Amino acid sequence: MMTLSLPLPDVPARRALPVLGDALDRQKDIVYLDATAHSVLNPPSATGIGCWTVNPYVGCAFGCAYCYARYAHRYVMERAGAPNDDALPPWLAFERRVLVKRDAPTLVRQALASRSTRYRALVSGEESVLVGSATDPYQPAERRFRVTRGVLEAFAEHPGVRVNVITKSPLVARDVDVLACIASRGAVTVHVSLITLDRALARRVEPRAPTPESRLRAIERLAAAGIHVGLNVMPVLPGITDDPAGLDALLARAAAAGARDVGACALRLQPAARDRYLPWIAAEFPELAARYRTTYARSSHAGERYQAGLRSYVGRIAARHGLVLREYGRGEEKMRVERTSAQLSLGI
Ligand code: SF4
Repeated sequence: MMTLSLPLPDVPARRALPVLGDALDRQKDIVYLDATAHSVLNPPSATGIGCWTVNPYVGCAFGCAYCYARYAHRYVMERAGAPNDDALPPWLAFERRVLVKRDAPTLVRQALASRSTRYRALVSGEESVLVGSATDPYQPAERRFRVTRGVLEAFAEHPGVRVNVITKSPLVARDVDVLACIASRGAVTVHVSLITLDRALARRVEPRAPTPESRLRAIERLAAAGIHVGLNVMPVLPGITDDPAGLDALLARAAAAGARDVGACALRLQPAARDRYLPWIAAEFPELAARYRTTYARSSHAGERYQAGLRSYVGRIAARHGLVLREYGRGEEKMRVERTSAQLSLGI
């Protein structure tokens, strides 16, 4: 997903970073910090992602072992000189120190109302916007701060805007009214991420993320409201979630719940994800540790044969369950995971 060898894009990185304020709240072991941003709409040219992006939060309490977005949080915290009183390692601070961009709805509203040529393609729907490229926009913080909802409401004021949301949380269904409003005059797609139906396994891999069943119910609720919902089986974890029968059952359940399409890809391990994931594999799945070290020793990708086999299999089962297979490797999601960590950090 990320490499450090590519040059920084020609944009004022520091200016794009949010400024940290006081702690807004605490929830068990999570601290929410106020973050004031200059802007929250990241253009495709700044991030290399093939669409605009908005991330209402920095950090994510769901804590997936494979998450590639940890670098973005570290980048902001270090440059902001944020105190680390508990001496949390950066990978854990990502999950326990969540930055809240409370002014994001206002910033989006001001940007879209400015009539600046900069936002013309976004307002007209010529270009789309992805909500949640480096965080989950419906993580627990959203229940109390409602920043994502505010951002969607700002988009809803402009007919023709095309919005894509990616989340693991059923909380997205709370905003079905706003999503339906955007969809009625523009376009909305919600991609619900779910990599396994096995609740115990999901808990090991994505310790604080909502259960598989609750995500399926979210698909159902959104689909029932006429929202275009897709399934994200990303990433497929070699030796852990790639059991053919398990994938087949997963696609069957998603299709039955109302998902229209599916995207799937094998785990990619760029440095920011590797530093967390490989030690986690050694602790949780020691029998796979050598295989992972070998597979990802020289590349961030799983082997070509593995990827081709996965593509072919998911294509067959998608067709069997009436799901459109999103062509992974082209478009927004490929771009999303292949940018450098420095570039990604500009998309926060
Ligand atoms: S839900 Fe997404 S952003 Fe949050 S930890 Fe998991 S992969 Fe990272």
